[in-house]
Amino acid sequence: MTALTIKDLNKVYESGKQALQNVSLTVPKGVFFALLGPNGAGKSTLINILADTVRASSGSVSLLGHDLLTERAWGKRHLGVVPQEIAFDPFFSPREILHFTRGMYGQKRDEAWVNDLLERLELSEHANKITRQLSGGMKRRLLVAQALVHRPKVVILDEPTAGVDVELRKRLWDFIRELNAQGTTVLLTTHYLEEAQELCDHVAIINQGQVIASQSMQSLLGDVASSNLCCRYEQPVKLLESQKQALQAFAPRVCDGVLCLNLQHQEGQSNFDAAYQAARQALGVPLDTYIRQENLEDVFLRLTHKDTR
Ligand code: ADP
Repeated sequence: MTALTIKDLNKVYESGKQALQNVSLTVPKGVFFALLGPNGAGKSTLINILADTVRASSGSVSLLGHDLLTERAWGKRHLGVVPQEIAFDPFFSPREILHFTRGMYGQKRDEAWVNDLLERLELSEHANKITRQLSGGMKRRLLVAQALVHRPKVVILDEPTAGVDVELRKRLWDFIRELNAQGTTVLLTTHYLEEAQELCDHVAIINQGQVIASQSMQSLLGDVASSNLCCRYEQPVKLLESQKQALQAFAPRVCDGVLCLNLQHQEGQSNFDAAYQAARQALGVPLDTYIRQENLEDVFLRLTHKDTR
C-alpha cells in the first residue's frame, strides 16, 4: 500500500490562475520524499490541499487507502501537517499546547512523548513559558512539534528548517530521520538541495503546476544526472542572451561564475569535443576545464531551466 496517492489533481484559483495541472504522484509507505520546485511551482497549493486549507478543483488524494478529500476527520488524525500558525491562545505554554493538540486528535495524554518532542525540538528550556514570549524560530519549532504530537503515520514538513542555523538544522534532520527509520513516511519541501540529496530516497520535482520528475533519488541521480563540462574563465562568467542561444544544445548554466555545459552520451560517444568547441566560440579559450558529475541541484536547475545560481 502507498502512503499517499495523488491522482489528476487540479487547482484553479478564483483569479483564474491554474496552480496545479493534472498532478499525479505516488508516495510509497515509509519513504523520505522530497517535493521540490522553484517558487510559484505549486508546492504550497498541493500541501494546502492535503492539509485541507485549500480546496482542489478536481482530482483525488488517498491517504493510506482512505479518500483524503472526503474523509477529512480521519485524514487529520493520520496526517501530520505543520500548521501555518499556532491556533491556540498565546498565553498557553508550549507544553500545554502540545497536550491540547493531542487531545484535539482524541488521543490520550502522553507526558513522555511530549517531553521527548520538546527536547528534540530544543524547546525544553522554554516549555513552560507563555508561547507569546518565544522567538520566531522557537514558534516554528513548536509548530513542527504540533504536527508530530499525535504520532501521525505520514508527516508533511514544508521547509521545516528555513532560517534555522546549521547546527540545529543538523539535529532536526537527525530527529526526522529517526522518525522515518521508525516507519513514519516523511514528505518534505526544502530549498536545501544538498540536504535533500543526502536525506531523501524519493524525489518529485514540480514546475509550473506540473510534475516533471518523480522517482527514487538513486534513479534520478543515476539515469537523469549526467556530466558537466565546466569551463573557468579569468572573470566570473555572465552569459549574454546571444551566448545562451549559441550554447543552447548544452543546457548552459553558470555555477559560482563557472560555465557548466551538460554532456550527453550517444552510442557510447560523449559530445565533449562539441561542447568544448562551442564554449571556445562563444566565450573564448577557458583558463581551465574539468568534468563534474551532476548533483541533485544541477538536475533540478536544468530540468526547471534555471541557468544561474
Ligand atoms: P510554491 O509553493 O511552489 O511557491 P504556490 O502553490 O504558492 O507555489 O503558488 C503556485 C501559483 O499559484 C503561483 O503562481 C501563485 O502566485 C499562485 N497562487 C497561490 N495562491 C494563490 C491564491 N490564493 N490566489 C491566486 N493565485 C494563487
